Amino acid sequence: MKKFILLLIVASSPCFAQYTPATPGQNEPVEPFRIIGNLYYVGANEVTSYLITSPEGHILLDGGFPETAPLIERNIQKLGFKLTDVKILISTHAHYDHAGGLAELKRATGAKFYASAADQPLLAAGGKGDFAFGDRFLFPPVTADATVEDGQVIRVGSAEMHAHLTPGHTKGCTTWTADVVEDGEKHTAVFVCSVSAPGYKLVNNAKYPGIVEDYRQTFKKLRALAADVFLGSHASFWDMEGKRKKIGSGANPFIDPAGYKAFLDENEKEFEAELKKQKAGK
Ligand SMILES: [Zn+2]
Repeated sequence: MKKFILLLIVASSPCFAQYTPATPGQNEPVEPFRIIGNLYYVGANEVTSYLITSPEGHILLDGGFPETAPLIERNIQKLGFKLTDVKILISTHAHYDHAGGLAELKRATGAKFYASAADQPLLAAGGKGDFAFGDRFLFPPVTADATVEDGQVIRVGSAEMHAHLTPGHTKGCTTWTADVVEDGEKHTAVFVCSVSAPGYKLVNNAKYPGIVEDYRQTFKKLRALAADVFLGSHASFWDMEGKRKKIGSGANPFIDPAGYKAFLDENEKEFEAELKKQKAGK
């Protein structure tokens, strides 16, 4: 009986019940850590979140699943930063595993939320009407306070994030870069939005007619970025687990330009192979 009541409470929980639950194994807590310069990791084991800090305030990138928001909040505080010092919230793309926690994080920090024009409607609709998934993956809606344009620099004090529109995975998918200095050397970190096309219709897609051209332009654009610190919206993109273990044993393990190039090579090959398959009618 007790068990039954508990089940009822969980099922009718007003916060998350109507939203897509976190994917098992992707929302495990992770100790927050410094990546390089003023960049910190504050996300879960697979869905990522990053804090870009300055003495004047911080920028926070991505919110994971709805259930990731409390983990992110705890991680920011564990590092000794204040939630209310997060002045701007930004996102890679309007999918439930990265935008799910944004509404709560916006509430908890009081930050202004900046998003690309093409992703804003999907963010405000909580994932409803996605060109590929329809209403399947829903998250708490979050309204943007300002629009991010291609090439725009978002600033809080000396913390800066550069926006690069890289559409395809979503129509407003945004890749970010940040210039950092460590041991007197300059580096550029790239936070890749995503270049996967999970089950997407690439040929004659009435809901996204320019999808193939967008992906091809995005690959080109990502290759042109002179980035050497490789990061992204999923920890598995950049082997966070493997690299974390190497912290403190020699060079900064997150400096990995070859890993970034290999990631693009592999994903582009996969994309072109899928396109070929779909064109052949398979
Ligand atoms: Zn996605």
